[in-house]
Amino acid sequence: MTSEQLFYDKKTGFDRLTSGDKKALQTYAEGYKAFLDEGKTERDAVKEMVRLAESKGFRAWKRGDALKSGDKIYQINREKGITLAVIGKKSLADGVRLTAAHLDAPRVDIRTVPLYEDGEMAYFKTHYYGGIKKYQWTAIPLELRGVVCVCHNGQVKKVEVRVGDKPDDPKFVITDLLPHLATEQMSKKATEVVKGEGLNVLVGSAPSDAAEEKCAEKVKLAVMEHLNRAYGMTEADFLSAELCCVPAFGACDIGFDRSFVGAYGHDDRVCSYTAATALLDLKGAPGHTCVCLLVDKEEIGSEGVTGMQSRAFDTFMADLCRSQDVLPEECYEHSVCLSADVCNAFDPNFPEVSEKRNDAKANCGFALVKYTGSRGKSGTSDASAELMARIRCIFDKAGVIWQTGQLGKVDQGGGGTVAMYLANRNIDTVDAGVPVLSMHAPFEVIAKLDLYMAYKGFSAFYKD
Ligand code: MN
Ligand code: MN
Repeated sequence: MTSEQLFYDKKTGFDRLTSGDKKALQTYAEGYKAFLDEGKTERDAVKEMVRLAESKGFRAWKRGDALKSGDKIYQINREKGITLAVIGKKSLADGVRLTAAHLDAPRVDIRTVPLYEDGEMAYFKTHYYGGIKKYQWTAIPLELRGVVCVCHNGQVKKVEVRVGDKPDDPKFVITDLLPHLATEQMSKKATEVVKGEGLNVLVGSAPSDAAEEKCAEKVKLAVMEHLNRAYGMTEADFLSAELCCVPAFGACDIGFDRSFVGAYGHDDRVCSYTAATALLDLKGAPGHTCVCLLVDKEEIGSEGVTGMQSRAFDTFMADLCRSQDVLPEECYEHSVCLSADVCNAFDPNFPEVSEKRNDAKANCGFALVKYTGSRGKSGTSDASAELMARIRCIFDKAGVIWQTGQLGKVDQGGGGTVAMYLANRNIDTVDAGVPVLSMHAPFEVIAKLDLYMAYKGFSAFYKD
């Protein structure tokens, strides 16, 4: 045998792309960019996913509704998570083909009592969400998204807030210190350059012109007057609001050759989009029932009612199983799951943290990750050899360009995904996803080749 046959080499996928793939990959990336711009919060992403699903013949499904093979259904969890399914020809006792990705992304949340005036300027106090480098969130345009549940005379009215995404909209910003006065700041550790309590969003400076008003905080008053006019809210309504600041720029191509997509929120909307669209595009009834689970709260530990640790998933699966008189435990036992989450892409600017034989590389394809975690494999489900073999064979048979991925050098740091929460439920689970450059930054980068190969990989997995 030749060395090429005997060695495993991480290779760029460009020379293995078919001409069909080359064309399809560009078109596919356009749809993905539109999804990113629309779905900058988990709520907005769920809404956009419903629109895409309904356009492909999916319908809302609830407990007790009849089901037959070939049915395409979805169920929403509190506007922040969504489960999509296509009912297969086989019994649920034979298990499902499950993909699980997350729709939340690191961002800057608005606090419950956020509005104040200082130096005749108005600000929102914030609390960052997820693992961010705080200094990266200053001096960039931000938009405000979310909902406010306005309480008035015992009545609750939910209003949607979305400011900064339309061309004529104002935007927001967290200011940074000028270099001229930053001698002390620049000598600090990066974790202290901008403190959590320093992430204050500038929201206005014009005082209220209410003539008879004796209020000392006229700028704050003007902001409240605006919010009252626009949304009917008073300051107390911030208590029942979920507002956040996300980057106010759109997804775009990167590079002369347009081979990359730069955007906010690739982690993990890239796996959400590829796993979901592969399911939406299934023709007819697959062998096994296919389920795509898009959850919230992964970036803060998968806790809560909309996170992967919630019983919401088990309840959905139990309801599905009940329609066929199958025990959910039996279904889980025979299921296979791709925990669909991004991994780090080797960055030549920071080679010292990577182990180049094991870390994923941009343009080498969909990355299969046996384990994540930190230190001595702590906090990972560590997929079995048998499962790795099974998934490798599926990808190879379908002509998916894929590679292995891992999270940098041993003891360099670490991280986790939702994989362990699914594996803990007795479902064979392995991580698979798209390699990302600048992960968790306001502007992350992925390769279009890897994006399209993730879609192809998920498709092959569902059909297996
Ligand atoms: Mn992720
Ligand atoms: Mn993440």
